[in-house]
Amino acid sequence: MKKDIKNRADSVFVKTYRRFPISVKEGSGCRLWDYDGKEYIDFVAGIAVCNLGHANPEIADAIYKQAKKLLHVSNLYYTEPQVDLASWLVKNSFGDRVFFCNSGTEAVECAIKLARRYFALKGETNRYKILSMEKSFHGRTMGALSATGQDKLKQGFYPVLEGFDFIPFNDIDALKAKDLTDICAVIIEPVQGEGGVRCPDEEYLQKVRKICDKAGILLIFDEIQTGMGRTGTLFCYEHYNVVPDIMTLAKALGNGVPIGAMIASEKIAEAFTPGAHASTFGGSPLITASALKVAEIFERDSIVERCKKTGEYFVKQLESLKSKHECIVDVRGKGLLLGMKLNIAGNTIVTRCMEKGFLINCIQENILRFIPPLIIEKEDIDSLVNCLDEIFSENL
Ligand SMILES: *Cc1c(COP(=O)(O)O)cnc(C)c1O
Repeated sequence: MKKDIKNRADSVFVKTYRRFPISVKEGSGCRLWDYDGKEYIDFVAGIAVCNLGHANPEIADAIYKQAKKLLHVSNLYYTEPQVDLASWLVKNSFGDRVFFCNSGTEAVECAIKLARRYFALKGETNRYKILSMEKSFHGRTMGALSATGQDKLKQGFYPVLEGFDFIPFNDIDALKAKDLTDICAVIIEPVQGEGGVRCPDEEYLQKVRKICDKAGILLIFDEIQTGMGRTGTLFCYEHYNVVPDIMTLAKALGNGVPIGAMIASEKIAEAFTPGAHASTFGGSPLITASALKVAEIFERDSIVERCKKTGEYFVKQLESLKSKHECIVDVRGKGLLLGMKLNIAGNTIVTRCMEKGFLINCIQENILRFIPPLIIEKEDIDSLVNCLDEIFSENL
């Protein structure tokens, strides 16, 4: 590791992150190198962010070209990359209108505000509650944290915002039993990411949609992790043949530059009138030009189809590991958002993989998560699977 970096970091940072002892110097595609020249194959991708790999030369070029022209003005004015990116999102999703912000949590804040305002403008001010799912993750700012269904993340921050209820994910009876008279929206991750790569039953989301329609309330899909091809379709909702009223995006939208977006249908979006919501940096030309290049590469190189195929291959390899090792409880996920539940602690495995030159991560104590760049090669998957095979064969 780079000399003394741990000590220096420990003396200056607020201690929010438990970091692994690696200092990353540079990357290329699916590979990263530390300061000792050690190479890692990256199955984390900045937590499902760098879908097109590290140091993508075309994206770097787009950033450079835009930086020399214009970094930032204000949303008091029009800029072309912002309009082009919004148009691409509208063309390729259910949505009609887009609001740009800078992160996932901000996109969720925006969605919460829009849902409340939609009903407030209709005079239904009592309909302000958001119904969310247990084990969900929606972000760390106060609104998004309040919408998050994991008590451990709220410790020390109470009181969180009023107006959030929780029911178990993938349990349609729990939703049916819920009194929805004061609910304005249901917020769901179509596949729960941080909660453990949990996929709902095939028809669950369609049933949720029906119940929302019947009650006249909105459906918000948080696709911050599942969006931008990650699950083998551009947006995860496409798998389930159901569309939301509002969707949040962030993570992979810019391949590493900070961007978030909230997308809504026309009728709902109308509730945001001038002055209702804003962001200084949101949709700046630098960031949207980068994301526009991401979109262009996605289309040209059929990245989504590629993810679907690679994901199917990856699952097969993981399944074959499962048949060999008793510590593997199950393999789950869609596309290249994959999880492997163990009956042993996951972090030891993560550390052993790291020593052997593979970055993976562990969520909820015992679920290994694999979220590589969508351009990952089969050979790299084979190498990781061999590595895991060796580790699981050790005396753990
Ligand atoms: C990562 C994530 C967020 C939060 O995004 P940030 O950019 O870290 O604020 C929200 N929802 C989901 C589903 C996520 O995976």
